Amino acid sequence: MSILPQKMYPIRSLHHVPKCRHPCLHAHVMSSSVTTSTKLRSNPNQQIIEPRLVTPPPLVKETSPPLLNDPSLQSTWTHRAWLASGCTTVFISLAKCIAGATNSHIGLQPMLAASLGYILADLGSGVYHWGIDNYGDPSTPIFGAQIEAFQGHHKWPWTITRRQFANNLHALARATTFVVLPIDLICNDAIVHAFVSVCSGCIMFSQQYHAWAHGTKSRLPPLVVALQDMGVLVSRSQHATHHRPPYNNNYCIVSGVWNEFLDKHRVFEALEMVLYFKLGVRPRSWSEPSSEWIEENATPAQVLVH
Ligand SMILES: [Zn+2]
Ligand SMILES: [Zn+2]
Repeated sequence: MSILPQKMYPIRSLHHVPKCRHPCLHAHVMSSSVTTSTKLRSNPNQQIIEPRLVTPPPLVKETSPPLLNDPSLQSTWTHRAWLASGCTTVFISLAKCIAGATNSHIGLQPMLAASLGYILADLGSGVYHWGIDNYGDPSTPIFGAQIEAFQGHHKWPWTITRRQFANNLHALARATTFVVLPIDLICNDAIVHAFVSVCSGCIMFSQQYHAWAHGTKSRLPPLVVALQDMGVLVSRSQHATHHRPPYNNNYCIVSGVWNEFLDKHRVFEALEMVLYFKLGVRPRSWSEPSSEWIEENATPAQVLVH
């Protein structure tokens, strides 16, 4: 098992803080991410600023990856129950969409709404993934377990391919239940349900698309590989970039269609700046990657069983 040495990224924080047109603001950000010492050389006007890294506190409690038959990778009946309830609420929404569209003799509007749901689900997955990758810690209410799980995933990405189906999806299935069930109960609009069923379904299954993005082509079902190659599902190559330095891009995990736009226009960096200057909260991606961000390779024993 190997950990990439941290000295490979000695000045990440200097390069990684989003460039700011206002030099004072830039300096202010940098002063919070690194401590500096100033030396005077023979030329008194020449100052050398040496960054010293401040290692953030660890987010992942475990120091070793889960074993292949680790209970943390297995599905429990609670996981399966949440997955069943999430699927049920999505199917009810879909059934209401089909019934309403049939009764109203409409087809185009529900299809457009469903397409919008699919596209926005990818954006939603990216915003959520960016949020839990960068903010909070395991003690954060509601999201703490997901924050810890995603940090563990950065350290041991291959474990997601060993995670059982309901284990991987139950958290999003539970959230889907709480959001979609009230809509199922109070709404009968076919267009609304077209959007809700597709959007919530894609978000609920995004962790499965994510797991497939970590699969190897030869071991994935041919249909999944075809959908990945077509861009319907997030591709393996696109998501692999998320797990490489500087660990601050390609957050979307449904189709990945938003990744290029969001990264090219530095949308998340802009949001990080807004949050920093409004609330004083720094995202983890501005910091030197600690061991939690850096992938550990699986040992031969851990990759043997499939
Ligand atoms: Zn991530
Ligand atoms: Zn991943």
